[in-house]
Amino acid sequence: MKSDAELKQIAIDLHAGRIFSDRHLKDPADMRFVFMPIVFMTDKHRQEMIDDNIDFIYEYMEEAGPRSVNGMPTFMSYRMLNRAESKIMFKHYEELKETLKKPEEELKFVLEVHLVPEKSFGANLRTKMGSSWSKLSRNIRDRHQRTCDICGWKEDAQRKKYTHLHEVWHYDDENHVQTLAEFECVCPTCHAVHHWGYSQLRGMNMKKLTEHACRINGCTREEWKTHVDESRKKWQERSTHEWTVDLGTYSKYC
Ligand SMILES: [Zn+2]
Repeated sequence: MKSDAELKQIAIDLHAGRIFSDRHLKDPADMRFVFMPIVFMTDKHRQEMIDDNIDFIYEYMEEAGPRSVNGMPTFMSYRMLNRAESKIMFKHYEELKETLKKPEEELKFVLEVHLVPEKSFGANLRTKMGSSWSKLSRNIRDRHQRTCDICGWKEDAQRKKYTHLHEVWHYDDENHVQTLAEFECVCPTCHAVHHWGYSQLRGMNMKKLTEHACRINGCTREEWKTHVDESRKKWQERSTHEWTVDLGTYSKYC
């Protein structure tokens, strides 16, 4: 009987994809192609395996031979766990899966919704800077090669399709201070996704924006909807407070 620590290690390796096992077989009949020594097994040996209650057959990927069958690796060796060992190993495996599962709110997107709290609408640098805003915007967008930082879209001046400058704020929810953290050079579509609420008000095609967000983030519509709902909840909470606006290093432009 393998020790608990050994079985836990097997669970870790299985979870990390370092192990190929009978559970990965597309068809149980492929067992003899994948774990080749099984073909040469005598009836006596096979009976011993049954008597030993063998439940899990596996091998480490580093032992795989150069050939593959139906997209599966092949091995000249194999290892086994009996039913009791396999049960403990899978218990560890399930626990591990549960621990490593990311909670939904931790899903990090490349393209997010950035809703500005209601009471700080108009508190942005653009309003404070007046006419010098365009110059700053041009300079920063030039530095970003007039390319969207998020999706890589390139500005097309001839067709009057320009990149935008987007302010990224950090919110200190304890002291209610919002700090201008950085600027992004973005395409009109990514910008419209950032300002989701405003885009809805303007009657933009939200289906198209959803498709764009899902494609850039590699997420499902459901995951995106969850993100939008959570952003809206956060926005509602933030909108109940008065915010101190800190323009950080950019205050020198005002
Ligand atoms: Zn973009």
